[in-house]
Amino acid sequence: MRKKVIAANWKMYKTPPLARDFVPPFQAEVGAHTRDEIVFCPPFVCIPAVVEAVKNSSFEVGGQDMHWEKEGAFTGAVSGHMLQAAGCTHVIIGHSERRQYFGETDDTVNLKLRAALVVGLKPIVCVGEVIQEREAGLTEDVLRRQCSVAFRRIAGESAHTIIIAYEPVWAIGTGKTATPELAGDAHRVIRAEAAEAFGDEIAAKMRILYGGSVKPDNAKALMTHPEIDGALVGGASLDPKSFAAIVRY
Ligand code: PEP
Repeated sequence: MRKKVIAANWKMYKTPPLARDFVPPFQAEVGAHTRDEIVFCPPFVCIPAVVEAVKNSSFEVGGQDMHWEKEGAFTGAVSGHMLQAAGCTHVIIGHSERRQYFGETDDTVNLKLRAALVVGLKPIVCVGEVIQEREAGLTEDVLRRQCSVAFRRIAGESAHTIIIAYEPVWAIGTGKTATPELAGDAHRVIRAEAAEAFGDEIAAKMRILYGGSVKPDNAKALMTHPEIDGALVGGASLDPKSFAAIVRY
């Protein structure tokens, strides 16, 4: 059984006081939820406030990106080592918005993924096709390329903590959700690529999340599909009631 991961990607929303204020009403809705791994990924400046707010709960905190170097002259960047020291357990890598607006490539995703594993952060690696690629029948090729480059030079024994988020780019923030069957097909491609890189046993344990307009009213259908091991949630994670409804699916 793979423990599901439900991660909130707050993108560039909320200040530290707003981030802290999210936690008590969310906790009141879900109680001591231990069935799934619940992770908040706030903007960097909100991380200390959220780490403090969740400290007596099972909720965890992640970064939305990281640099692959431990430290250096990289103005504006934050390293995995720094995230880990600030209390993070997870980090999102290769989100499509980083790929689209900040020049993230498959190769930098690989550098970041390897660096995250070195410092013991659980990486949530985002992959997914744009609409033109889906319409051209290229989805499988895109997923295979993104995964195979991401998985380069990673030893099998360190791969078991890797989490993949399948996020079809056409479904992010658009209100268009992939059907559970369509997501399931993509997840099978990703798991096959993981099996090629790390072997069947590790691939079978790898959590593969779905992301793209997950909302309270579609969470159950997605989350109960056998290939879907959780969700990466953007817009609907910004409000405690709607994120709690997804967590309770
Ligand atoms: C995301 O940002 O990873 C995401 C899936 O966003 P949304 O849920 O808003 O589509």
